[in-house]
Amino acid sequence: MLSTATRSDVAHAIGRATAFFAERETRAGVLARRLLGTASTRDAVLADHLTRERRQRTRMDGSTDGSLVKSAWTALELLQLDCPPDHAGVVRTMGWVLARQSQPGRFGEECSDERHAQGLCQHFLSGFFSPGPTDVGVAPLSFPSGVTVHGEEEARFAASCFALRVVLRARQERRQTVLDHVRSLLNLGQVWSGWGGRWPPDLVLFALSGLAQAPLELQDRVEGLAAQVARRQRADGSWAGADLIHAVDVMLTLPTAHAAVRAAVPQICRLSHDGEIFEDPEAEERSLIALRGLKAAAA
Ligand SMILES: [Zn+2]
Repeated sequence: MLSTATRSDVAHAIGRATAFFAERETRAGVLARRLLGTASTRDAVLADHLTRERRQRTRMDGSTDGSLVKSAWTALELLQLDCPPDHAGVVRTMGWVLARQSQPGRFGEECSDERHAQGLCQHFLSGFFSPGPTDVGVAPLSFPSGVTVHGEEEARFAASCFALRVVLRARQERRQTVLDHVRSLLNLGQVWSGWGGRWPPDLVLFALSGLAQAPLELQDRVEGLAAQVARRQRADGSWAGADLIHAVDVMLTLPTAHAAVRAAVPQICRLSHDGEIFEDPEAEERSLIALRGLKAAAA
């Protein structure tokens, strides 16, 4: 339950969100208005247009600019715009993304005594997606939620988790190589116990987001890890060292972590009050995630 004070803050933030998204002719605008119950008949036409636009920007090979993160994002956007997983645009993009699995440049490709001892090499990890060969740097790498990952290896790890999240959302969970990635993440004990140390909190959140739609038989383990991450939340609803919107985005994908989303509401209201969301079009995606958090908590 939200307190009365929080309820009034939420109402205020939702008012700001409603005004911010009212005229936005973007995917985030369409999705926000659906959530707010303010979608018009024009939005259906707009959604069709946005879908076509995304299909047009994919290359012949199915990628968006040859980028793992951008391509995965295009597929996720299409799914959010109601394209089914077997929609031609989704299938083509997923085909390109899936072909990046186990390619040179993926996280954990190399082996050394040190890496082997930590279980961070090819002998323990498989199914990871490569964002490109190592001779071309990918860091710093920015993600739609607004998080930027700096280290080269960290960026490759996060990109792979992001791709896994979308691949699972596109119902590719029965592929052996996809399952290999899921299991590799589940078994990366160092990640789950390494919050704030060698593994920055945002990276742990990326790992968790990659597991959100893991096959049913693995859900118990995923929920255990989600609970572990939820316990890192501070009394004020934030996570030390993690981007709040990123954390909310990940928690929203895990049905059992909704209490954590509710607990984050005062922080979302604070961001709204400070004008960090529901104000700047540049922060549109972050605003949409924040709105999802508010709506989920108020439900
Ligand atoms: Zn090894």
